[in-house]
Amino acid sequence: MNTPKPEAGAAAAQLAARALNLVNGGVIVLDADQRIVLWNSWLTPRCGRAATRVLGHPLFDVFPSLRGSRVEAAVLAALAEDTTTAIPQSDNPSPFPLRAAGSFDGPAFEQAVTVSPFREDGQTFCLVEIRDVSGTVEREKRLLDHAESMRARSYVDGLTGIANRRYFDVALDRELRRAQRLGGALSLLLTDIDSFKAYNDHFGHQGGDACLSTVAQALASKLKRPADVAARYGGEEFAAILPDTDAAQARQLAENIREYVASLNLPHAPAAVHPRVTLSIGVASIEKGRLDDPKALIEAADQALYAAKRGGRNCVVVDGEAGPA
Ligand code: GH3
Ligand code: MG
Ligand code: MG
Repeated sequence: MNTPKPEAGAAAAQLAARALNLVNGGVIVLDADQRIVLWNSWLTPRCGRAATRVLGHPLFDVFPSLRGSRVEAAVLAALAEDTTTAIPQSDNPSPFPLRAAGSFDGPAFEQAVTVSPFREDGQTFCLVEIRDVSGTVEREKRLLDHAESMRARSYVDGLTGIANRRYFDVALDRELRRAQRLGGALSLLLTDIDSFKAYNDHFGHQGGDACLSTVAQALASKLKRPADVAARYGGEEFAAILPDTDAAQARQLAENIREYVASLNLPHAPAAVHPRVTLSIGVASIEKGRLDDPKALIEAADQALYAAKRGGRNCVVVDGEAGPA
C-alpha cells in the first residue's frame, strides 16, 4: 500500500477547509468543553462574527441566548451521552440569532439544526449544522395554500371522499336537463342522520366525523349505476341523484339504504331517538310539468325528509305519498 506523501495530506486539508467554507449552511465544531474549534465562513455574514473572533470561546458565551434552549440540551446530549439530535424548525424556529447575510437588524431566519457527536484522536467533539429553511417554510406554505384552493375548487368532499355540494349542484342540473331532453325518469333522495347532535355530544366531534364517513361510504356502496351520484349535501345530510329511476324504484333503493345503515349496528348516543345510527330519507321524482327544476325537486325531497322525521325517523317518505302513521 502507498503511504500518502505529507504534501498530499496538506493539500487534502486545504481542500477540506475550502469546501467547508463553501457549504451552504452553518458548520460549527465544539470540543468536549463546548469551545468552538471550527467555524465555517457561511456563519460570518449572518451573525457578524468571523472565525478569528470566536475560535476557542465557548459556544454559549458567543450566543448567550442559546442557554437553556434545545440547542444547549442537544449539545450536552451529544458530548455526555453520544446522542445525535435533529431540531426541526417547527420545534424552535430560530434558535441562533442569525439573519440574512449582511443585514443585522432584520428578524432571525428559520433554521433546522442538527447536533451530532464524533470522536477524533481519542477526544469527543460535537458537530452543529445549521440550515436556513426560511425559503422551504415559505414554499411549503405556498404549496399548502395552493392545495387548499385546489380543494375549494374541486368536486370532492374533504371529509367523506364522496362528491361535494358543488358537484351535486352541477350534476343535478345536468341530469335534469338530460331527463327532460330524453323524456326519462329522475329521482332524488335526501337523507339526514337521526339525532346527530346527540351523537356529537356523546362521541365528540371527531367521533361524529368518523360516523359521517362511514355513512357516506354506506350510501355510495348502494348506488350501482355509473350515472348515480352520492353527494354530501350539507353537514350530516347526504343526497343521491338517480337518473332513469322512477319513484317506485327510488323508494326501493331508499329502503335498501336505510336498512343497510341500520344493519351496520353503529352504536348511538343514549339521548338519541334510536339506539343505533339510522337515517331518515325523503324521495322526490320529476313528473311532467312538475318538479322539473332543481329547486322544486330539492324542495319536494326536503319536505318528504321532514315528513320522515315527523313520522318517527329511521324511515323513508316519498313526495306526494302519506308518511308513516
Ligand atoms: P334529527 O334527527 O332531527 O336530524 O336531529 P339532529 O340532531 O340530527 O338534528 P340536525 O339534523 O339539525 O343536526 C345536525 C347536526 O350535525 C348538528 C351539527 O353539529 C352536526 N354536524 C354538521 N356537520 C358536521 C360535521 O362536519 N361533523 C360533525 N361531527 N358534525 C356535524
Ligand atoms: Mg340535519
Ligand atoms: Mg340529523
